[in-house]
Amino acid sequence: MAKKCEGIAVGIDLGTTYSCVAVWQEQYGRPEIIHNDQGNRTTPSCVAFTKEQRLIGDAAKNQAASNTQNTVFDAKRLIGRKFSDQVVQDDIMLWPFKVTAGVNDKPMITVTYKGREKKLCAEEVSSMVLTKMREIAEAYVESPVKNAVVTVPAYFRDSQRKATVDAGAIAGLNVIRVMNEPTAAAIAYGLDKRADCVGERNIFVFDLGGGTFDVSLLTIKDNVFRVKATAGNTHLGGEDFDNRIVNYCVQEFKRKNKVDIGGNPRALRRLRTACERAKRSLSFLVVSTIEIDSLFEGIDFSSLINRAKFEEVNMDLFEECMKIVESCLTDANLEKSKVDDIVLVGGCSRIPKVQQLLQEFFNGKELCKSINPDEAVAYGAAVQAALLSDDIKNVPMLVLQDVTPLSLGRSLKGDIMSVVIPRNTCIPVKKTKKYVTVKDNQTSSLIEVYEGERTRASDNNLLGSFLLSGHTPAPRGHPLDVCFAIDENGILTVSVTERSTGKMNEITITNYKERLSAEEIKNLIKEAENYHIEDKKFLRKAKAVYALDDYIYKMKNALKKKDVNIKLTLEEIEKIKSAIAVATGLLSDNNQQVEADVLEDHLKWLESRMEPIITKTI
Ligand code: AMP
Repeated sequence: MAKKCEGIAVGIDLGTTYSCVAVWQEQYGRPEIIHNDQGNRTTPSCVAFTKEQRLIGDAAKNQAASNTQNTVFDAKRLIGRKFSDQVVQDDIMLWPFKVTAGVNDKPMITVTYKGREKKLCAEEVSSMVLTKMREIAEAYVESPVKNAVVTVPAYFRDSQRKATVDAGAIAGLNVIRVMNEPTAAAIAYGLDKRADCVGERNIFVFDLGGGTFDVSLLTIKDNVFRVKATAGNTHLGGEDFDNRIVNYCVQEFKRKNKVDIGGNPRALRRLRTACERAKRSLSFLVVSTIEIDSLFEGIDFSSLINRAKFEEVNMDLFEECMKIVESCLTDANLEKSKVDDIVLVGGCSRIPKVQQLLQEFFNGKELCKSINPDEAVAYGAAVQAALLSDDIKNVPMLVLQDVTPLSLGRSLKGDIMSVVIPRNTCIPVKKTKKYVTVKDNQTSSLIEVYEGERTRASDNNLLGSFLLSGHTPAPRGHPLDVCFAIDENGILTVSVTERSTGKMNEITITNYKERLSAEEIKNLIKEAENYHIEDKKFLRKAKAVYALDDYIYKMKNALKKKDVNIKLTLEEIEKIKSAIAVATGLLSDNNQQVEADVLEDHLKWLESRMEPIITKTI
C-alpha cells in the first residue's frame, strides 16, 4: 500500500453522538485507544457556546440541560446535506438549537456566543470535535498530530465524505483517508483474529450507533479484507430509541399531571439525558428508574420502565434493522449460513433484544463480542492510519478493499439513470462506458452525474454536471466515452472524451454547491484559530482568577492565626487587610472585563509585598 504521509497518524471515529481516537503503538504491535482529559475513552461529539467560552466534549454535554439552545450535537446528521432534505427537516423538529437555510440551501446552526449571534455550518461544528480529538491525541503522544484517518458510515454519500474531509482541514488535520466505519471495525476484529483465520472467512459487521446504522459483509483471506456489500440507514440508532422513551415519558407526565412538556427544550433535554441512561442500564437490568427533580414547573418526574416496555416502543425500529441485515446479504448474494462471524459494533449493539433478533436471524449463531463496540472503529482506523504513515513501522500488512455504497451514473434522455459503476463495486475503480450523441450535428454534451438506486435520474442525488462542447459535427450516434473513477477515499472524478478527436473534459465532484469552497475553508480555518485563541485566553483568565482567589484565601488564613497579633505589627495587619480588599475588588462582578495579565501582574506584586509578612505567621 502506498504510504501517504510522514509523522504520526491517528485514527478518529467521528461519531454522531460520541467520538473516539486511537494511535498505533509500536511497542505493543496494536493501537491504543486514547482517553480524554476527563479520563474517558470516548468523547461526546458536542460543542457548546456560553457567555464566556466555547466548550467541546464532556464539558459541553455536562452543561447541555442549562444551555439547550447553544449546545450543538448531531452535526454529523447535517454534514453534506441540504436544509430542505427531509432528514434534516425531521431532525430540526427534535433539536433544541436553531437551524436555518443558508446560501445554496446549506443548513446553518445559529448559536449565541459571548452575547453575539453566530452561524455555523456542520463542517465547522465537526471540525471543533475533530480539533478536540486531535488535542486529546497530542496530549497523549506529546507531539503535534497532523494526519488522521477519519471514519464515516458506509452509507455516506459523496458530498458527506467530502464535507468530512473539509471538517478535517478546518481542524488542521490532513485527512489521509476517509474510511467506512464497518470496514474499520472489521480490521479491528480481523487484527485479533488473523492468527486463527484459515482460508476465507465471511464476516458480518453489525454497527448500531447513536445516530446511524450500518451493516457490511466482508471477507478476510490471507490478510486481505474485502468488503462485499454494505447497507444501512443514516437515521437509525440510539437517539431514535431515546426519543421513543422520551415520547413515552412525555405522555406519562401529561397523563399524571395534565401538562405537556413537549414544547419545553430544557425539560426535554433533561428527560432525554435520563432516558439515554435508562436505555443503557436496560441492557443489563430488566427494569430502570427515570427520576428527575422539578422537571417542569416544580413537578418531579419518576417512572419505572422495564425492558419489555422499552422493546415494545422500539420494536419497529429493531425490525427495520433486521430488514437491512437481510438486504445486505441479498446484495452480497450470500446465504446467511455462510456467514462465519457476526461482529457487534456501536453502543446500541449491546441492547439484548437487538442481539436476540440478530442471533435468531442467523439461526442461533453465537455473536462475536470480543471487541469493545464503542472503540472498534477508532481501533481499525488507527491500523489504517499506521499503514499509511511512512514513520510508523512494524504494522502487520493488511490490505483493504472498500466498495461504493451507492450506484453512480449519468442521466440519459428521458430522465433515465444510466449506471456506470454499480453499488458495491470494489474501490478504487475506473470504468468507461460508451455513449452516443442523440441529435444530428450535436455540438455539445451535458453530463449530469447522479448517485442512487432509482431508475429515474432526478429521483437520485445530483452530484454535479459539466459540459463537453465543440463536438465535430456528425450525424447522431457520434461516440463519446464517459469514464467514472473513484479513488481510495470514495471520491469521484468523471470525464468525457470525444472518441474521434480525443477532446476531453472532466470534473472531480468538488464544485458541488453544497461543498465549501477553498476560500470558505480558508476563512473557517482562520475562524478556528480565533476560537482557539479565545479558548486559550479564557483558560488563562480562569487560571489567573483561581490563583488570585487562592492568594486571598492564604492572606485571610494568615489573619486568622491565633498569635497573629504577636507575630505581626498593626501596620502589617492593615497592609494585609487592604491587600485583601483590593484583590477581592479586582475579582468582583464589576471587574469582569479585567484581563488575565492584570490579574497575573497583581498577584506577582502581591506576592512580592505580602510573602515576607505572611511568612512571619507560619
Ligand atoms: P456509538 O455511536 O457507537 O458511540 O453509540 C452511542 C450510542 O450507544 C448512544 O445512543 C448510547 O446511548 C448507546 N449505548 C451505549 N452503551 C449502551 C448500552 N449499554 N446499551 C444500550 N445502548 C448503549
